[in-house]
Amino acid sequence: MLIENMTTTEFSAGLKKTRTVIVPIGSTEQHGIHLPLDTDTIQAVDIAQAASEQRVLFVAPPVHYGVCRSTAQHPGTIGIRTLTLKLLIMDIVSSLYAQGFRHIVLLSGHAGTTHMATLVDAGEELLGLYSDIFIAVIKEYDLAVSAGKGLLETPGDSHAGEIETSRLLHSHPDLVKGTSPAEYPSFPQGILVRDKQKYWPGGVWGDPTKASRTKGKLLQQRMADKLCEMIAELERMET
Ligand SMILES: [Zn+2]
Repeated sequence: MLIENMTTTEFSAGLKKTRTVIVPIGSTEQHGIHLPLDTDTIQAVDIAQAASEQRVLFVAPPVHYGVCRSTAQHPGTIGIRTLTLKLLIMDIVSSLYAQGFRHIVLLSGHAGTTHMATLVDAGEELLGLYSDIFIAVIKEYDLAVSAGKGLLETPGDSHAGEIETSRLLHSHPDLVKGTSPAEYPSFPQGILVRDKQKYWPGGVWGDPTKASRTKGKLLQQRMADKLCEMIAELERMET
């Protein structure tokens, strides 16, 4: 059930069937020279919708912005601060709670470490605020890596590489504009660099030339299955 397409009457009727909602969270961020800036949001929405076809649950309208550090200077990246993301998520979840939702899945298509830590921080604070809420913070990339066992060829693939290009080739082939060269950037350990593009010129982490539509289809199916398993576990939680 996609909240954005429902009427208020349909919404009320849906709440009688489930109190579970997925909030897809993405980013607006460069993804090499071949994938759209909205890639992370598209992927989170795709998997959320696939899960909603297997289980009775709501999918909230997506959050298109995230915390982007290493891609902040690449053309097209539009990020928000950690505090903004935390407050935004807390506001959205508080409103969902007030509407009656109790099982909340924060599903992030963007995998940045600071971004994910912010979602966990928001989730922990929400657990303290509402004693009968259950929250999962799921990094889609983790689902992709486990779904890709025996399928993916690129070790360490993470950004605009084999995984993301395969997924977009499957779900939105019209949005894939060719490919980008393989790239495996290296940032200095522990040091925050000012000129991020110097250390990551191409904006790819992995090898998009190994991508295929078939791999994307399989990844999508396996990821949706795993997400449904995790939601089932969340719904079984009692304290
Ligand atoms: Zn991405």
